[in-house]
Amino acid sequence: MIQGARQRRGEKEKSFADTAAALVSRKQNLDQQELLSRRIRRLDKAKHGVNFFAKIILCAVAIGRGYNILSKVSGRHWGGTGTAGRRSAFQYNIKMNDLQHSVPKELLQPFGSYPNILNITEEMRSSFHPVIKFPLRNTNTSSDSTCNSSGQKLNEFYDYKVTDLTGNVDNSVIVGETKLPQLLTTREEAVEHARQFPNPVKGFDVGRYDEDRRKMYTSALFDNSSGSSRTVHVGIDIGAPVGTEVYAFEDGIVHSCGYNPEHGDYGHVIVIEHSLSLSSKVYALYGHLAKTVLSNKAGDKISKGQVIGHVGNTDENGGWTGTHLHFQVAVNAPEKEHDMPGAVTLDDRSDALLEYADPRYIIGELY
Ligand SMILES: [Zn+2]
Repeated sequence: MIQGARQRRGEKEKSFADTAAALVSRKQNLDQQELLSRRIRRLDKAKHGVNFFAKIILCAVAIGRGYNILSKVSGRHWGGTGTAGRRSAFQYNIKMNDLQHSVPKELLQPFGSYPNILNITEEMRSSFHPVIKFPLRNTNTSSDSTCNSSGQKLNEFYDYKVTDLTGNVDNSVIVGETKLPQLLTTREEAVEHARQFPNPVKGFDVGRYDEDRRKMYTSALFDNSSGSSRTVHVGIDIGAPVGTEVYAFEDGIVHSCGYNPEHGDYGHVIVIEHSLSLSSKVYALYGHLAKTVLSNKAGDKISKGQVIGHVGNTDENGGWTGTHLHFQVAVNAPEKEHDMPGAVTLDDRSDALLEYADPRYIIGELY
């Protein structure tokens, strides 16, 4: 009897202790969330301040030079002459030390602007495999080029541009002689487009994280039930030719893999649960892929650097003419199979930035 009562009391005390520990842990989490939220609000303020300041500078420059601002930034890319970066000492850690932008660098929300919610160190980032390998723009083969300890030349530059997809500048895609919107209007149009252009000639580009694309996300898929539109992009897009190999950045296990057929959706997509350390995980979504990704099944083991799929054409990527990989990283497992919201409403933005980390913490500085 007594022993039974002691045991029950023991259990009760244990459950009090557990509850207390849970409350402390919840309080710590809330404190951390509040700190990160404050940081995002500060970032917002800074962004708007910079926007205003940048507009004044651009106006002054434009007036001084006597031409329209829009003509200066109306190319598809902010980068203008290119935004390729120098290869760092580490093979896979893309760093951007040589930005050449026609707008102030601050407008690009430089690397490190967002909370590092996954606690990824530079050392970890250096060990990750690229999700897509950018080609080199300019390889200086002269004898005076400097090499790092791995024998790579330090004056090699990756060939890609940073694209502005806010819709404030023309971001249509040129295919052949035709100018097309990024997202075609119907599924039938997408199928016909892919038939006409099975291998469209396309360079590499990057679409930004936390970019408000209210003029681009026009299909019904981006309206939420309360009537506001999901316009803030919370992944990074890597534009690449159809068929470009897509790699796992780290070892992992396939969480889910499938086809999201709705027009404007991910098309073929995979979510991989990657282990960043013994205790921390991240769920990475690789979207807009070709059907080759379906060879992966939930539960499959994936090795770092393994080809998990290929960039899909317009009829298999959700209807996007600018073929690309959408790469997004979540702190928590997605609620739905092979899906997570790639764009959120302005109201949900602060919370979303704490759930979906800036992918540059994984794939390198980029811009
Ligand atoms: Zn995207």
